Amino acid sequence: MTAILDIADDDLYAVTQPGVINGDLGRAVAARGMFYPPDPASFEISSIGGNLATNAGGFRCLKYGVTRDSVLGLQVVLADGSVIRTGARTVKNVVGYDLTSLFVGSEGTLGIITEATLRLRPQPPGLPATFVATFPSLPAVGGAVAAIVRSGLGPSLLELMDQASIGIVENFRPMGLDRTAAALLIGQSDGDDASGAAEAMAALCLRNGAGLAVSSTDPAEAGMLLEARRLHYHACEAKGRVLSEDIGVPRSRLAELLTGIAHLAAASGLEIATVGHAGDGNMHPAIILPRGDDEAIGAAQRAADQICRLALRLGGTVSGEHGIGTLKREWLGAQLDAPTYAAHRLVKSAFDPFGILNPGKAL
Ligand SMILES: Cc1cc2nc3c(=O)[nH]c(=O)nc-3n(C[C@H](O)[C@H](O)[C@H](O)COP(=O)(O)OP(=O)(O)OC[C@H]3O[C@@H](n4cnc5c(N)ncnc54)[C@H](O)[C@@H]3O)c2cc1C
Repeated sequence: MTAILDIADDDLYAVTQPGVINGDLGRAVAARGMFYPPDPASFEISSIGGNLATNAGGFRCLKYGVTRDSVLGLQVVLADGSVIRTGARTVKNVVGYDLTSLFVGSEGTLGIITEATLRLRPQPPGLPATFVATFPSLPAVGGAVAAIVRSGLGPSLLELMDQASIGIVENFRPMGLDRTAAALLIGQSDGDDASGAAEAMAALCLRNGAGLAVSSTDPAEAGMLLEARRLHYHACEAKGRVLSEDIGVPRSRLAELLTGIAHLAAASGLEIATVGHAGDGNMHPAIILPRGDDEAIGAAQRAADQICRLALRLGGTVSGEHGIGTLKREWLGAQLDAPTYAAHRLVKSAFDPFGILNPGKAL
């Protein structure tokens, strides 16, 4: 099911089948002057169906929202074989329960999405402007993120790499990144006065303790910086086996989260390299293990548990965008209280009384 069925230029939506690759949809609508905002780092390999089922986020969701914010309606096959349509092709629609939002992020446990009507946006005018800043400490980068988010400058992305990640990416592909920095912040602004906004964000970084902060409208420079962030997972995989975590905290607690992870790495002797969507408070610590070291798997799992516990202690979530799947099932009960968990079970049994849809996943 890999067809893009319709692109409606005037009404700014696309109708796709679920097997369409995110990047292919992005290119198809860009050719017509529009864009589809959800851009998980896996955009070249992940499908619209998978993005919908996990409510995927990405670099741009800071400004344009997560996948759920770009869905107008769905066609879904239910467990009994019946086919339903949720939502509408209009911008506004309040007829019936919001089943579209219920299916988005349900990890295939309530129905199988067979078609989606996705909201598009006009491409922002001009070129985006990018800034990069290096910080001598984690509290300083936390302060800068909070200041940028509060400023109203509206970054279209705000990504962070910690010191371990900078070193690993630099070893994998030398780009001249500052290995001595405690953290690197990469931000972008699009639309009117993008370069003014990027300059103002760079200035906020300096005011909050950045050692260096520069902005640029050169697409090649921006591409190189974003490539450094995108290469993180591949650079970690080149070193060993990777357990990639996904937790979120309120943005004001970001520095505490990063400091806690750094302490955990030092205490456990594990290599943990953290990157993430700083503007959303959503971090991806990658725990890297030597291949073939089965004992280390237990230690990595314990470290992942401690990271989830830390996120909850800071008022956060055990999954920002990757979902529960099978790996985090036990953590669902830690985050949801008993009546809330029971409400989830009620929804599941109403849609899938015989438990045939993705059995054992998520709940
Ligand atoms: C290198 C890398 C970077 C990543 N970066 C990000 C990121 O930035 N943001 C992010 O959110 N995630 C990220 N991910 C995680 C992952 O790519 C996303 O969750 C993505 O949305 C999954 O899409 P997929 O096509 O691979 O789905 P799959 O892994 O095939 O499926 C995911 C789940 O959705 C269900 N599903 C799939 N299709 C349907 C359908 N049609 N109807 C109902 N259920 C369905 C499956 O049963 C499964 O439970 C990353 C992963 C990697 C490996």
